Amino acid sequence: MGLIVQKYGGTSVANLERIRNVAHRVIRTHNQGHDVVAIVSAMSGVTDSLIALAREINESPDKRELDALLATGEQTTATLLAMMLTSMGSPAQSLMGFQVQVRTDQCFGNARIQDIRVDRVRSLLSDHSIVVVAGFQGCDAEGNITTLGRGGSDTSAVAIAAALTADACDIYTDVTGVFTADPNVVSKARKIDRISYEEMLEMSSIGAKVLQIRSVEFAMKYNVPVHVRSSFSEEEGTMVVNEDNGMERVVVSAVTMNKSDARITLRKVPDSPGIAAKIFTPIAAAGISVDMIIQNTRASGKTDLTFTVPKADYKVALAIEKQVAKEIEAEDVFGDENIAKISVTGVGMRSHPGVAARMFACLAREGINIMMISTSEIRISCLIEQKYAELGVQALHTEFGLDAA
Ligand code: ADP
Ligand code: ASP
Ligand code: MG
Repeated sequence: MGLIVQKYGGTSVANLERIRNVAHRVIRTHNQGHDVVAIVSAMSGVTDSLIALAREINESPDKRELDALLATGEQTTATLLAMMLTSMGSPAQSLMGFQVQVRTDQCFGNARIQDIRVDRVRSLLSDHSIVVVAGFQGCDAEGNITTLGRGGSDTSAVAIAAALTADACDIYTDVTGVFTADPNVVSKARKIDRISYEEMLEMSSIGAKVLQIRSVEFAMKYNVPVHVRSSFSEEEGTMVVNEDNGMERVVVSAVTMNKSDARITLRKVPDSPGIAAKIFTPIAAAGISVDMIIQNTRASGKTDLTFTVPKADYKVALAIEKQVAKEIEAEDVFGDENIAKISVTGVGMRSHPGVAARMFACLAREGINIMMISTSEIRISCLIEQKYAELGVQALHTEFGLDAA
């Protein structure tokens, strides 16, 4: 007898028939004698449609209202699953983020979990009820509804599993696990049986949306073993765990791409102390995170500065920089949304030099131009034109010997 947390993503709860399938799986686990807490996402497409509706009213909707709107997506599925379970003979109750209580900061749209009180979940479980929790949402200290960023139901699940010290945290999705590349892009991608938190963290940070990055941070911090698997099959998935000796030590373990950023360039910026701070302070103040940054010095003593931001923040960031450019007397500012970041990652890179050179040579052979480069100890990323993203990922997957036989 254990306590199992199961998270079901959007495609797994896309309609009533799928919600019924999910209910069967939850009941099966419950009938094995386990306590079950099911965390659900909104039906696939619902979050996007709600955002589009809000944007019909205002291109930059009020963030507090938007969060309250988006939370209804998960509220719908949580209540439907609870009704379904009860109608199938296994009493269940739904809880929203504020009822659990998932306490967050006030950063609407990208709130961080600060504390979770699981007393109510525990008392329902002790009454032998199945508990269904709406993922992706929490509430701030004033009781406002907040959301945890796109893909945030993964984080709800892992954080609740940590708070409950659950015996297992299963993430049910539409692929059978974590692959060496997105299996919907690279047909020869291979499933990884076991992956370390550290490698998964890198993969999530560079675009493998199969797990939201904050869910991996939580799993690593609280040592929650996460099992990523499909809700459409019985196949064993991928275990995300502490690094151990049984793991493959390949140089590159995965290739990812990310089309969710845009780049902004300030041209002919005066090259003097304090300029970078003037460029980035208002971006930080607007709550926008910057990923890659590159600075080129010109012979004239001026520099060009380019950086990337999430596409969702692109228009706001561009407007901010147009203002900054006037103040610092930069020549002009322009932006580009047609970019993609492709990356290779693997813990084996630490001890194998030459990975970057091999990556650049591979992209060159495909005629793909590299606009920006960034690295970490176990990752190399290149910014390229968006139309080459799939080609680049496929070529790198083959280059580093990851293709399935
Ligand atoms: P859910 O709605 O269940 O949360 P997501 O769409 O958020 O599902 O995440 C699953 C998707 O992640 C897959 O359909 C797949 O296209 C994508 N993905 C990207 N990179 C990878 C990878 N390396 N391994 C597995 N899936 C990946
Ligand atoms: N429904 C939210 C989204 O689409 C959260 C999630 O699915 O995890 O981003
Ligand atoms: Mg997801």
